[in-house]
Parts: sequence; C-alpha cells; structure tokens
Amino acid sequence: MRVDVDRDLCESNAVCVGIAPDIFELDDEDLAVVTVDEIPADREADVRQAVQLCPKIALTLREDG
Ligand code: SF4
Repeated sequence: MRVDVDRDLCESNAVCVGIAPDIFELDDEDLAVVTVDEIPADREADVRQAVQLCPKIALTLREDG
C-alpha cells in the first residue's frame, strides 16, 4: 500500500504528521510529504486513519502497490 499527498489541497495543519510522524512530514513549503515508498504493514492502520482525518481530503491510498 502507498499513500499520495495532493499538495494543491494540503493546508499544512500536520494532522497526518501527528498521527504517523514516521510516514508523513512537512517540507520546506510546509506541505505534507510521504517519507516512505511502501507503507509497512504494521503502519497501515495509522495511515488509513490519517487519510480519513485529513481535513482537506488531500491523502489518497493506493492499494495496488
Ligand atoms: S492532514 Fe492533510 S491537510 Fe493536513 S498536513 Fe496532512 S495532508 Fe496536509
């Protein structure tokens, strides 16, 4: 599983970073970036929660790999 950030939607509130700081961080522009390629299986639950709780619906899961 992978996760993408739509940087046009992200508003830099760091909700995702708070939920999964090992997966998301804010870059120099204060926009979220994903710091891993493939989400580790034991981190998928938190990533799914981040996707659900992102206030801007800026995160998208890619289950295909
Ligand atoms: S939770 Fe959503 S809007 Fe907030 S920083 Fe993460 S991707 Fe951006």
